Amino acid sequence: MGFNLKQYGIEVETIHRNSSVPVLYELGLRLEKGTAISSVGALMTYSGEKTGRSPKDKRVVKNPRSANNIDWGDINIELDEYTYMVNRERAVDYLNIKEHLYVVDAFAGWDPKYRLKVRIVCTRAYHALFMQNMLIMPTAEELENFGEPDYVIFNAGGFKANSFTSSMTSKTSVDVNLEKKEIVILGTEYAGEMKKGIFSIMNYLMPLEGVMPMHCSANVGEEGDVTILFGLSGTGKTTLSADPKRKLIGDDEHCWTDEGTFNIEGGCYAKAIDLSAEKEPDIFNAIKFGTVLENVGFDPNTRVVDYSDVSFTQNTRASYPINYIENVQLPCVAGHPKNIIFLTCDAFGVLPPVSKLTPEQASYHFISGYTAKVAGTEMGVTEPEATFSACFGAAFMMWHPNKYAELLAEKIKEHGATAWLVNTGWSGGAYGIGNRMKLKYTRAMIDAIHNGSFENVDYVTDEGFGFQIPTSCPNVPSEILVPENTWANKAEYEKTKVKLISLFQKNFKKFESGVNPEILEAGPKEVVNS
Ligand code: ATP
Ligand code: MN
Repeated sequence: MGFNLKQYGIEVETIHRNSSVPVLYELGLRLEKGTAISSVGALMTYSGEKTGRSPKDKRVVKNPRSANNIDWGDINIELDEYTYMVNRERAVDYLNIKEHLYVVDAFAGWDPKYRLKVRIVCTRAYHALFMQNMLIMPTAEELENFGEPDYVIFNAGGFKANSFTSSMTSKTSVDVNLEKKEIVILGTEYAGEMKKGIFSIMNYLMPLEGVMPMHCSANVGEEGDVTILFGLSGTGKTTLSADPKRKLIGDDEHCWTDEGTFNIEGGCYAKAIDLSAEKEPDIFNAIKFGTVLENVGFDPNTRVVDYSDVSFTQNTRASYPINYIENVQLPCVAGHPKNIIFLTCDAFGVLPPVSKLTPEQASYHFISGYTAKVAGTEMGVTEPEATFSACFGAAFMMWHPNKYAELLAEKIKEHGATAWLVNTGWSGGAYGIGNRMKLKYTRAMIDAIHNGSFENVDYVTDEGFGFQIPTSCPNVPSEILVPENTWANKAEYEKTKVKLISLFQKNFKKFESGVNPEILEAGPKEVVNS
């Protein structure tokens, strides 16, 4: 008896399980409207109406076994078990009317001790290829012995949720069920929902084993020194982790165990907007046969991609297996982080482009998770605005932020890691007046962190935030290192800084009672005008 999905009530006979890349290309081109091959061989696909994640439509099933562990609220919105089954049946019914289904059986987590066996059931070759790129693919032998998966995703995103189903606020629903070990997706074909669904599950499971799950990229130097880069969407995790001088461990999701770090994923998911061979050669060159290009525009004759085309979305993306990057660490496992970089894209132009933090400041800023949202992965965000997202990824956290903050603080202390804040956002004024920090300068600052250039330079203390700002950095003009010096209008700078500090303080109110006083004390203080 061949492979089938009858145990889920799915009777479809034509099931493409872990199919080869050419087979998925052929099926995608034949069955999915708009699909085409780019001039360099990537598969160009369209996700339909949803071109970013839909965090407001995420639901977590409330069950007595996990209910006390979940941080219920706007992010983890509860769904009752009965309604979950209504959506699950809707998904299964939809899957059942398809002529072709795709199954991806693969692993999440490079450390065999913590890896999950994941099964994706989906209706599009695009989704299957995406997940085959993003997960860790089993060898033929591992697939043979795969057995039952730990978690299953039923992706019926081509069919909408019923708005008369209780607790549905739209036609999209992404439902995580920790007890049934399943995720059901309705009403969105954006592939990123699957990848971040698995990340959410890891964010739930890992702390139970004392492991810190992290929304960060990671790479490792020749000496084995690991750097992790936390940051919300668009702050530069993927861009800055691809560094020819260092081996890439991963671009988005990692765990920190007692042994070191491991990547959860087998691939990368890079923004494609304005991608260029000059600025981001590693990512540009990773776009080839096997890469999924989402929602990009292209020349109808030559099939050359136009990375500046945002007519479908600003959030155009490329998904490729990690070994498409030249310099990678395989398996994607390494030692304990030596440097921890918090990336922020400060649209106020107030935070220094690079600064060193005390461990307490690191805790404060990890819990705050500040950035300015630029046009990006979430539906409906096209203008920058200040946002705070705990742990630099609140949308994917399932426990209270303090749980993750405590794990991180313990690990920083135990392994003596140094924390840095890198502002990849505005300089010389806020959004509208100043400009975004040049990528080559940010890269030079990160090089300086890695090669020890900041060990013997003078620092000034940022008034207000208290960060230590290095006053010189190789290959970066010194004038841009201290934000105040880059603003033409000093009064405007002070005013903007006061405003940003008050936003930090307001945001931190809800965490005050749960953190120890040193962390609270490490937050920004009102600037006293001299
Ligand atoms: P996501 O979580 O959505 O994957 P991310 O943190 O990986 O987001 P990137 O994909 O690296 O973010 O996006 C950073 C974007 O900002 C890229 O398009 C990059 O070209 C651009 N950029 C411009 N200036 C800088 C800078 N100084 N540093 C980093 N990135 C910059
Ligand atoms: Mn990324």
